Order: sequence, then C-alpha cells, then structure tokens
Amino acid sequence: MAERSSDLIVQRPEGLYCPAGDFYIDPWRPVARAVITHAHADHARRGHGAYLATAISEGVLCARLGNITLQGLAYGETVLLNGVQVSLHPAGHVLGSAQVRLAYRGQVWVASGDYFCSGHESDANTTCAPFEPVRCDCFITESTFGLPIYRWRPQAEVMADINTWWRTNAEAGRASLLLGYSFGKAQRLLAGVDPGIGPSSCTMPLRRSTRPTAQPASSCPPPSRWRHWPTAPCASAPWCWRHRPCAAAPGCGSWATAVTRLPAAGCNCAAAAAARAWTAALH
Ligand SMILES: [Zn+2]
Repeated sequence: MAERSSDLIVQRPEGLYCPAGDFYIDPWRPVARAVITHAHADHARRGHGAYLATAISEGVLCARLGNITLQGLAYGETVLLNGVQVSLHPAGHVLGSAQVRLAYRGQVWVASGDYFCSGHESDANTTCAPFEPVRCDCFITESTFGLPIYRWRPQAEVMADINTWWRTNAEAGRASLLLGYSFGKAQRLLAGVDPGIGPSSCTMPLRRSTRPTAQPASSCPPPSRWRHWPTAPCASAPWCWRHRPCAAAPGCGSWATAVTRLPAAGCNCAAAAAARAWTAALH
C-alpha cells in the first residue's frame, strides 16, 4: 500500500514504524524503542533498546527475554512518545496481550497484534482480559487465521471433548498427554480441563510461562504437579529424540522438542524408553 505523509504507522524493514513517535511495534529487527503487543516469540524479540508493554505481561516477557529495559503500562494508561499518545488495550489473546492505540493530530490508529474475538456467544479466553473494541480511523489487523476456511468450534465444545477423552482414558488406566504451546494455549488447556477427573502435570519448561500467569487477572490454575521431561541422547536413531537443554531447568528437554519429537514407534533407545516411562508415571 502506498505510504502517505500523514500515516501514523508505516512499514519499515525492521517492522511497523510510527514516524511521528519514532518507535516500532513488534519489530523483528533490533531497534531503539519497541512497543510490544504480547510476549509470543514472533512479536517480542530480544535486542531492542527499550520496551513498552502492558505491566501485566512483564513477568512472561522477562522470563522469555531476560534482562530488558521495560516500561509497563496498565490497560488504557496513556504515555506520550515524541508527541504521540500511546495506550494499550486488551486483545483477548494471551495474558497481557494488547492492541496499540496511537493518537496524533486528531487521528487515531490501532495496531491489533494477535487478538481473540470469538463469533460464538459466551466464548471467551478466560486466561486474560477480553478483547476491547477501540474506535479508530485506521485499524491494522493481524489475520493469521483470518481466511474464511478457518471455522473454530466454541471452546466449551472442544474442552468437553478433551475432558471426555481424558475421563475415558483415566477409567481405562491410561495416561492422557496434551501438547500445546507453552504460553497461551497451555494455560487455556489448564483452565479448561476438569480437575475432578484426576491430577494434572506439566513439564518444567512450561513452568516458566505458567508461573507469571498465576495472578488475579488470569483464571489459569496451576497444574497438580510439575515434571521434568526426561531426555537422553538417542544413539540408534538421532531423529527419534532431539535433545536440547532447557535453560530454566538444566537436564530437562525443551517443550518445543517434546511437541515435535515424540518417541518414535518401535524405537527402544534410552530417550524413547524414558519418555514412555514418563507418560506411564502420569497415572
Ligand atoms: Zn500471539
């Protein structure tokens, strides 16, 4: 799209840029000042000089990015960046996620970041503040799943299916294993599973993302217990289990590895055996 001099947000190689305020929104290259919509890795990257985000996302951001210079804002609180009024408003996506509202010389622009706004009645993400419509002159939307081919069922239906499956497994003496991204999806699963069926357990890497979400703004409960995901190098079939050390808990495997590399059927390497023992221990 052609750029106009009055545009409050334009595209730069580093990412979305506000020329009047001289800052970026979720930049993918290192910049001096970054406004961050939320703590997912494709929006919050290392290497920026200064970060501005919601105060409520501070715990997860620092757990993921380390020691950063971060200014936290309450939802709706306004700061002036070189004359541009900047405020953050709930996006309903993950804890602390925000739309970025910019007001300058009578114009209001909003950059959405990822957001959750269900078309089903009473279908809310209970782990964070719900999406807030913000009146504006220009709305820049993320649309990862915006294509009409995506039709999501109400969360209550999906969780009912999961709980039925878990209950059936528990009654048969089988462990149930749910795989989900460690920040956002995992907490929604924790919030949706029925604790009356049995104890739940999470891998240690997940703890880094879940611990900071255990605050009043979130209804995400902690699991019954934490577990180290066992790892051991697989000598016979390296593709069976890719070992990557976890920074938070040395000796345990990364969650991403666990998601993509379940023990291969028929492989009896030490890692595969350890993983099977781990799932068996969930009973
Ligand atoms: Zn996201």
